[in-house]
Amino acid sequence: YGGEFGPQIRRVKLEKQSEFRIEVQRTRPLRLRLLDGGAEIFGYELPHEVWFTFPPRMIFAVFTWYGATIETDGITENEYTSCETPMMSYLRVHNSLLVERHRSTSSTRDSVPSQGPRVIIVGDTDSGKSTLAKMLLNWAAKDGWKPTYVDLNIGQSSITIPGTVSATPIEMPVDPVEGFPLDKAIVHYFGHTTPTTNLRLYKSLVEELARELKQESFGNAESRASGMVIDTMGFIVRQGYELLLHAIRTFNATVVIVLGQEETLVNDLKKDLKFKKSLQFVNLEKSAGVFFRGSDFRKTLRNSNIQNYFYGVTNDLTVYTKTVKFSDVQVYQIGDFPETSSSTSARRRGNDPLKITPVAIDEHLVNKVLAISYAKQPDHQIISSIVAGFVCIKNVNTGEERITYISPSAAELPSKTLILGTLEWRVT
Ligand code: ADP
Repeated sequence: YGGEFGPQIRRVKLEKQSEFRIEVQRTRPLRLRLLDGGAEIFGYELPHEVWFTFPPRMIFAVFTWYGATIETDGITENEYTSCETPMMSYLRVHNSLLVERHRSTSSTRDSVPSQGPRVIIVGDTDSGKSTLAKMLLNWAAKDGWKPTYVDLNIGQSSITIPGTVSATPIEMPVDPVEGFPLDKAIVHYFGHTTPTTNLRLYKSLVEELARELKQESFGNAESRASGMVIDTMGFIVRQGYELLLHAIRTFNATVVIVLGQEETLVNDLKKDLKFKKSLQFVNLEKSAGVFFRGSDFRKTLRNSNIQNYFYGVTNDLTVYTKTVKFSDVQVYQIGDFPETSSSTSARRRGNDPLKITPVAIDEHLVNKVLAISYAKQPDHQIISSIVAGFVCIKNVNTGEERITYISPSAAELPSKTLILGTLEWRVT
């Protein structure tokens, strides 16, 4: 973003327990730094006098517990200061989770420390679920814990591209610009942005992830005691509600945080989970700062999320354009989904939603985002294996039998097996 900064530096003084809410412009980034006092961005403590560059469209808040002065450089799309925040109630939840974590380290069963709190955050779209998850994780990491972040929100994924079910250990507070680190993440590709495209597959991937995390936690006492924070979809009715129940049970959650005044949701969950005696429910107020994102904006966000994967949040990654022969790859789809199956017979009811089907390579793959699977066999392993990363198909030359794709990695594909969903990406 060279050359775009300089003349518009302003100071903003924040009173204790207030926050400065900012929407970065659509086309230009914004720089910001902390001058005096203490301030945090969703639980990430800002160091003094270090400029952070926030990319266009980012929406966030700088909160201070005891007062702070910050400096901004650039014009914002929208900004205001508010003293009304639910931060005290969020911090109280964090403190009770700390108690649970200490309790797990001191209580061992068969010399394995017991598991720390498994918190699941539920609520409507735009109730601030991901933001609260980030705060709880950042505060825990600041206190020396290493909780796991589980992201089940395929519509607006936080760890990697949309359409994924994933988890990552949080070993230090998450950088407010770069977001969650990807290097230790376990990622499964669902391939669609709405679960109804293949409910059975979505559930299977959630179960796989829970199983893998359970296995990993046995060998890692620190992560086991730190517990998890699970982020969910804003789809809380009908099948969405069933999926919430499924996630709560699959991860054996200990705390359900319901964000926003979702009375019916709380009552239904309490009724349906009444046999889980140890399950705690916490109602938390939604922050007035949470930005309402209409469906168009959410679509734009999904697109920029995929763009960030290939080009970096601040456009700092090199994207590689590569060509392979048809015979170098095998493309599979899991189950049946209407957009790619042209034959009516394939759309017949009763199809196996977990069936692995080879896909013919032709022009319909152009702009599709494919996952690179670690599966060794083209069978159920495609569902149980995690993925190495993603490519986006740019061209299919059926004459020469060559596929051109982009990838954030210069290396050859780590596997021949690619998974196709309905997710697409094109330069906007
Ligand atoms: P959900 O996960 O429930 O869909 P998010 O946590 O992703 O909601 O929040 C929606 C948007 O609102 C995000 O862009 C987030 O950065 C922004 N946001 C959340 N809390 C605040 C706040 N206090 N001030 C300003 N923006 C906020």
